[in-house]
Amino acid sequence: MNYYSLNKKAPHTTFEDAVVRGLAPDKGLYFPESITPLDPSFFETIEDKSNTEIAFEAIKQFIVPEIPEDVLKSIIEDTLSFDFPVVEINENISSLELFHGPTMAFKDVGARFMARCLGYFNKTNTKDVTVLVATSGDTGGAVANGFLGVKGVNVVILYPSGKVSDIQEKQLTTLKKNIKALEVDGVFDDCQDMVKKAFTDRELTDKMQLTSANSINIARWLPQLFYFMFTYKKLKSKHKDIAFSVPSGNFGNICAGMVAQKLGLPIKHFIAANNANDTVVNYMISQTYTPKPSVQTISNAMDVGNPSNFIRIQELHNNDFEALKANLSSYSYTDEETKEALLELYNDYTYVADPHGAVGYLGAKDYLKNNDAHVVFLETAHPTKFLDIVTDIIRQNISLPPQIESVMHKKKKSTKISTYDELKQFLLG
Ligand SMILES: *Cc1c(COP(=O)(O)O)cnc(C)c1O
Repeated sequence: MNYYSLNKKAPHTTFEDAVVRGLAPDKGLYFPESITPLDPSFFETIEDKSNTEIAFEAIKQFIVPEIPEDVLKSIIEDTLSFDFPVVEINENISSLELFHGPTMAFKDVGARFMARCLGYFNKTNTKDVTVLVATSGDTGGAVANGFLGVKGVNVVILYPSGKVSDIQEKQLTTLKKNIKALEVDGVFDDCQDMVKKAFTDRELTDKMQLTSANSINIARWLPQLFYFMFTYKKLKSKHKDIAFSVPSGNFGNICAGMVAQKLGLPIKHFIAANNANDTVVNYMISQTYTPKPSVQTISNAMDVGNPSNFIRIQELHNNDFEALKANLSSYSYTDEETKEALLELYNDYTYVADPHGAVGYLGAKDYLKNNDAHVVFLETAHPTKFLDIVTDIIRQNISLPPQIESVMHKKKKSTKISTYDELKQFLLG
């Protein structure tokens, strides 16, 4: 499969090149040249297949033969070494728990998959690759963990100082080896801007091979389509239409769900559940896309003012606004509403959600006011990753899972920076 840049001013290229570059030379996001629906029999018999088989069939057209079938199979097996439970909240709403991986974030799937792809390509490459990544919270930990110890890959993570939770910070600053953390005096958008600038800085790119592990990278973005398929497998016997409410920041997760839909997965509708960062909500009303500076909320992984994957969503809908509108609803919620939802989930259903999942739950409820479906909201992080916020709301202690416990007492190691030049010096030095 070849990939093209959505800015349409760069040559089409291979999967490997797209993964290693991250962003195309014209600064566009890569997109597959074609998406061929799977044979209907795949969905008819999906309940007889293992997660690994489903994932392999779903993604192979994008990757094989560049990565041979048997290697791809073992990459997938390695990536999916944990569970994806669907927990029924009530008759019409379920939670898809994506937090059972090593860093308890849904991003574990994409990060682990991408790391293994790069590791495979690096077997024949002589030049080290530097993965440069900006995080608003969970990306950093998942990427750090996924890439830890991968030969020929150095990872540099930028995160906004004081704006990620303690546990998130520990997860990305305590690993050492090939993982370095930079603490940026600024907000997430500042981190993302610095990363984007580095990718287009010839002085840097002449000297080193930089790539991204944000959802702009196809190897991180595409495998996220797996768990939409796993959910369908579990809920198929309900014989109800399924809609997904996805707490969205950079819109990579929801966009991967739309790729699953393009592959033939029967999904009735998508709901983009947002916090106060409502660029897409406004677009769906006004048809004008106006990025804004991000504002800080309690669902910090979604504090994104200019979601990078939205352009892929538009491409998936042939840049047809009416087609998009028929497939996507978008709502925005305040922190106050998010806290109330978290409490409601706890009081009415004894379900402990995290703030992002709670936003997803609100999206599910709003959609159900005028529509009939079974709505699955994505629980994108384990509640203990936002320990203070969650325990404050439900007034109950929650015990730390072992994945979290193990990093809590490690010593943080980061380098403070505040300008692009400091980042550049760090990378060159
Ligand atoms: C990254 C993240 C999101 C947003 O996902 P996108 O793919 O950027 O839309 C939501 N919740 C959590 C916990 C996250 O870490």
